[in-house]
Amino acid sequence: MAKRVLVCEDEAAIRDFVVINLRKNGFDVREAETGEAALRIFMEEEGRFHVALLDLMLPGIDGLTVCRELRRASDTLGIIMLTARSQEADKIKGLSSGADDYVTKPFSPSELVARVTSLCRRVEVNADALHQKAGDRLTGGDYVLDLRRHCIEKKGVPIELTQVEFDILEMLFSNAGRLVERADILQRVWGGGSARDEKVVDVNIRRLRMKIEDDPGEPEHIITVWGRGYRWQS
Ligand code: CA
Repeated sequence: MAKRVLVCEDEAAIRDFVVINLRKNGFDVREAETGEAALRIFMEEEGRFHVALLDLMLPGIDGLTVCRELRRASDTLGIIMLTARSQEADKIKGLSSGADDYVTKPFSPSELVARVTSLCRRVEVNADALHQKAGDRLTGGDYVLDLRRHCIEKKGVPIELTQVEFDILEMLFSNAGRLVERADILQRVWGGGSARDEKVVDVNIRRLRMKIEDDPGEPEHIITVWGRGYRWQS
């Protein structure tokens, strides 16, 4: 499967250069002109990116802020900052804001592709290590959550999950029978947010129910605890 890259750069010429070269090398690329747009795309697509390339100087919120927000939302996303030669100090700041690497402008297509490729590989290795540490499978009644393949099996039949759906289920499974607060799900899966953002939890729960409940309108496993959150019942 193609690796997914989010590119955030306000200068059209540089953005096009980056996007064209990544696509030429088989990457699946989404582009954003501002930090706000990049964060929106990241949320809309449920964080399903391997790497984000962030320009430092952006018209609205700056690249370092975008970097911090993305890092709060995802431990596994690879983040590369695009910096100008004069911004040495900013590189250091970028790395302490959660970036994994930086590329200095001007850069060649081969340098860019090499950095993105190598970070994709590291990200995969890290994610694998993370899941192995957690053990391979969590069981809840007829359901088995496969921590390696990121899917759930219902009576032996695999059901595909998005990363976010998987993360929510993993929380519910590890706390089976106990209330999991929406705020805690928001914190753990999205890295935080206000009460207003808790709606995104409900939307994902609704989709999860469609996938795994016999009757999503009368859920038997993902139980709503009114005003609080959800509870997994086997
Ligand atoms: Ca810029």
